[in-house]
Amino acid sequence: MSNTDFALSVEDLTVSFDGFKAIDDLTLYVDKNELRVIIGPNGAGKTTLLDLICGKTRASKGSIKFQNEEIIGLAEHKRVRKGIGRKFQTPSIYENLSVFQNLEVSYPSGRSVFGALAFKCTEEVKTTVQSVAEEIGLADKLETEAGLLSHGQKQWLEIGMLLMQEPELLMLDEPIAGMSAKERDLTAELLHRICNNRAVIVIEHDMEFVKKIAHKVTVMHQGKILAEGPMEQVQADPKVIDVYLGH
Ligand code: ADP
Ligand code: MG
Repeated sequence: MSNTDFALSVEDLTVSFDGFKAIDDLTLYVDKNELRVIIGPNGAGKTTLLDLICGKTRASKGSIKFQNEEIIGLAEHKRVRKGIGRKFQTPSIYENLSVFQNLEVSYPSGRSVFGALAFKCTEEVKTTVQSVAEEIGLADKLETEAGLLSHGQKQWLEIGMLLMQEPELLMLDEPIAGMSAKERDLTAELLHRICNNRAVIVIEHDMEFVKKIAHKVTVMHQGKILAEGPMEQVQADPKVIDVYLGH
């Protein structure tokens, strides 16, 4: 097996649920610093693919390599430690804690000087919280209780909680659902910033948004890849228009 520069290599991946192949012999490569968007009709297998990559669901067969290392047998928490971050559709922030505290508790404890023994708010943690808060546009909201944030700000906070772990692959499932137009624009800018030093995979339906953020688009259909390439190419593909964009 040769080494590659890909952040993520998925090869011949299949998962069956009671004989139904939700992911069917799928092969996908994502570059370092790439922002890949996955689109496709409901039930195409998009969320299941992310579940397989983060280890929430076990594959029936195939290979998933993260930075050239096979991870298909690894438990979910071990994949997190390797640098894979996943944001689910519903935010899982601590509503009663402040923005600062939400970010602070997401700092990987093993990495702090004091470790898990006596968690202290070291300068290192504070500095990381500050820089992440700036990246997600919440630097002026550090003392705000998370429950008081707008829907969009909660989504950004959750992205920030993932960024605290400095993931090298970040996966987001429909991150702009329920956001205002302004919040969508700010999220596009945020995603541009965060793919500077990591690979990002986004599942999204909103084509205007996809156009703004995607380096490349992968179109899924029935657990397989229907088309892949730059947005303009994929949009003009008759197969894609037929099963997805035409509706
Ligand atoms: P998408 O995110 O593209 O809308 P999903 O990945 O959620 O699609 O689902 C793909 C297919 O796999 C659907 O038919 C769904 O019902 C099925 N599926 C997903 N997860 C499971 C599961 N844990 N058990 C059985 N079927 C599942
Ligand atoms: Mg889905």
